[in-house]
Amino acid sequence: MEKLESLIKTYYDFPKKGIAFKDILGIIQDPEVFRELILKMSSNHVIKNSEAIISIEARGFIFGSAISLQACKPMIVARKPAKLPGDLIQENYNLEYGKSSLSIQTEALKKFNSFAIVDDLLATGGTIKCVDNLIKKSGKEVSGCITVVELLDLKGRNELNLKVESILKI
Ligand code: AMP
Repeated sequence: MEKLESLIKTYYDFPKKGIAFKDILGIIQDPEVFRELILKMSSNHVIKNSEAIISIEARGFIFGSAISLQACKPMIVARKPAKLPGDLIQENYNLEYGKSSLSIQTEALKKFNSFAIVDDLLATGGTIKCVDNLIKKSGKEVSGCITVVELLDLKGRNELNLKVESILKI
């Protein structure tokens, strides 16, 4: 995992002034590091203690679907507005750079009892908190969340009332 940090590039003032954007896409251009990362995330207790994975649009899908295959767990998705068909449950949230909402298909959520939340990066914690609220509102359990990167300065984990795991803390 030594190489992991070197594959993440920082873009300053993207997508807004003042934001140091961490571009994680370099990880998937290095299959050996990507594989090692997925093996590590898949064996984490947050994944092991869940019945299903819930991954967050869009970069969360990359890691969530690979973990789903490796850990042999079903995956459902939390998506941005106007993306999912059918009966949805929705929740608003604040981003490090803006506001949005996330939705989950009610039918998909009904099928499982406990979920591990997967995303690429933990910043202020608003996104993961939104998904945690969605799941808990439906009377389901959250085993915790796991991200590839955690931005320690933003103290996102303090906002979350759940087990928080991350592979690279920067
Ligand atoms: P937050 O809700 O503040 O924890 O933000 C986490 C979500 O926003 C993740 O889905 C990230 O992909 C994205 N995000 C927030 N801040 C950054 C950042 N500095 N660099 C890259 N992605 C970010």
